[in-house]
Amino acid sequence: MLAFLAEHDPRETPKQDFLNARFDAGLAWVHYPEGLGGLGLSRSLQQVVDAEFAAAGSPGNDAERNVIGLGMAAPTIVAYGTDEQRRRWLRELWTGREIWCQLFSEPGAGSDLATLATRAVRDGDNWVVSGQKVWTSLAHHAQRGLLVARSDPEVPKHQGLTYFAVDMTAPGVEVRPLRQITGEAEFNEVFLTDVRIPDADRIGPVGEGWKVANATLMSERVSIGASRAAPREAGMIGPAAATWRSRPELRTPGLHARLLRLWIDAEVARLAGERLRQQLAAGQPGPEGSAAKLVLARLNQDISGFELELAAADGLRYDDWSMRRPEHANFYSRGPGYRYLRARGNSIEGGTSEIMRNIIAERVLGLPPEPRVDKDVPWKDLPR
Ligand SMILES: Cc1cc2nc3c(=O)[nH]c(=O)nc-3n(C[C@H](O)[C@H](O)[C@H](O)COP(=O)(O)OP(=O)(O)OC[C@H]3O[C@@H](n4cnc5c(N)ncnc54)[C@H](O)[C@@H]3O)c2cc1C
Repeated sequence: MLAFLAEHDPRETPKQDFLNARFDAGLAWVHYPEGLGGLGLSRSLQQVVDAEFAAAGSPGNDAERNVIGLGMAAPTIVAYGTDEQRRRWLRELWTGREIWCQLFSEPGAGSDLATLATRAVRDGDNWVVSGQKVWTSLAHHAQRGLLVARSDPEVPKHQGLTYFAVDMTAPGVEVRPLRQITGEAEFNEVFLTDVRIPDADRIGPVGEGWKVANATLMSERVSIGASRAAPREAGMIGPAAATWRSRPELRTPGLHARLLRLWIDAEVARLAGERLRQQLAAGQPGPEGSAAKLVLARLNQDISGFELELAAADGLRYDDWSMRRPEHANFYSRGPGYRYLRARGNSIEGGTSEIMRNIIAERVLGLPPEPRVDKDVPWKDLPR
């Protein structure tokens, strides 16, 4: 690292050149394979590397703008992409030149994602894709989208899916804002009309999109629930504890007991997230991430509710309901009202809390699965 910093002075080197060189030296995500921005080292060393770069005044890759790219697209590409795709996409992604979004949910397919209807029809070296996606976070900034589409309607729903990386600037891709409860439009609906996707941008084998999508979803849950090493009182408990300390006049014994319980829960979740991150091998998170995601949703909703109550009359005010197109969800640049409203989505995005409980029950605890009556029915014959 020292040799790298000596060769690339962060104060002298233009940002993009610095990030490119950091990637090429394997110091981007050190647990990734050599040649793909990593050195095949332990994931736990990433924290040390990031801290050293920050201390040297190095430019960052604006990770919060590319949460889907870094947290979901990259592990999927490493696990299922070809060597050519890894070379083509990972560097652009890590250095922040290409923002990614996730085109999974549809108006008729959310929790039961495998029922999705967007069609992909093979045409020589291309696929022609038409359909509608919804709740697509950050599609308005994205250059690339992770897309699951139906390539074969004749087979049961899980078997006829294929996975692509779609160019969001291609003809036929239309992104429209969807305004949410916070007032802003963080997500979108995306219409795909005869969009041509080269077969070279297919990730994984034809018909195996469900398997690839599951890898993305498991990464998503880890990414939401335990994304990065965090100091004590990081996250929503931070502003709640700060208000408690600075506004003694708001305190009541009941609120005190609640704050203590929430503080302990937040600390336990932080430590459990740390353990989960250390257990993870690159690109292969398991269903355990669902527990982290489930806990984060509950905590964020409970803590933001507490914060609002603690704020008393001030809690009833909302800072700004004007329509905005944020570059990422930032819970901390705004007031408690925003946190309260935005946290509602935490138990829906990335899979609902009910679905997380199903996954934990079936795949972690080994309890009997939900009956799947439509498992063998061709998708085209499913009731709609
Ligand atoms: C802030 C936010 C950002 C999002 N970003 C994206 C994105 O970038 N890309 C993307 O593709 N999607 C995104 N989503 C969509 C999200 O993944 C879906 O909303 C979610 O999977 C639920 O699907 P649904 O809305 O269709 O609800 P439904 O699946 O219709 O569920 C409705 C209700 O039924 C319950 N339910 C459904 N099935 C079961 C079951 N088997 N057992 C028990 N209960 C069940 C659910 O828990 C829920 O309470 C985002 C959502 C939010 C809120």
